[in-house]
Amino acid sequence: MTSVTVLDHPLLAHKLTRIRDRDTATPEFRSLLVETAMIAVEATRHFPVVEIEVATPLAKMKGIRLDGPSPVLISILRAGTALLDGFLRIVPDADVGYIGLYRDEETLQAHEYLLRLPDLTGRDVVIVDPMLATGHTSVAALDRITESVPRSILFAYLVAAPKGISELHSHHPQVPIVTASLDSHLDEIGYIVPGLGDAGDRLYGTT
Ligand code: URA
Repeated sequence: MTSVTVLDHPLLAHKLTRIRDRDTATPEFRSLLVETAMIAVEATRHFPVVEIEVATPLAKMKGIRLDGPSPVLISILRAGTALLDGFLRIVPDADVGYIGLYRDEETLQAHEYLLRLPDLTGRDVVIVDPMLATGHTSVAALDRITESVPRSILFAYLVAAPKGISELHSHHPQVPIVTASLDSHLDEIGYIVPGLGDAGDRLYGTT
C-alpha cells in the first residue's frame, strides 16, 4: 500500500492558501512555492544517518551526519522547478536531475521530452512536482527512475488528488508520498479541485 503523509502545519497551510488564491499574482506565487520547500524536512526524514562526535565551543557531544552518497533531487519540468529551488536550500549537497514531461490535453497521457539524470544507483532520490493529478506523469517518471536502483525513492507534492494516489499505488506501491494537501477530486479535464489551477502557467505567467 502506498504510504501517504499529509503534512499538518499552520505555516505551510497559510502559504498553500495564498498559493491557491486565484488573485495571487505570479511573483508572489513563485516565491511562495519556493517557501513551501519546508516539505523537504518531512520528505527527507528517512535518510540514513550515522552518529558522530562534535566539539561545540563548550563541550564534546554526540551528533549525526547523513550517511552515504549525496542525495538526488529530481524535478518534473516545468512546475517542479520552484519546489526544487526551495528543496536545494534545505538539501544543498544534493545532485539534481530533470525529467521533462508534458501531458497530452486530449488523452491526459504523459510524454517525455527531456531526461537528464545523475547516476542514481544506491542513492536517496526525492522527486518534486507540485501537483499529483491523474498520476500519469508521476508514473512515467517512476518508470524511468526505477530503471536504476536507488537506495530509496520518495515523491513530494504540494497538492495531491485521490485518483493520482491510486494510479501511483497500482504501478509503484513501494514509493511513499509526502504532500501538503490531499484535495477532493479531478474535474473533467484532469485539473485538481479545489487545487490551485495550472501550476506551470501560474508560475511562469503563461496561459
Ligand atoms: N497540473 C496542474 O498544474 N494543475 C492541476 O490541477 C493538475 C495538473
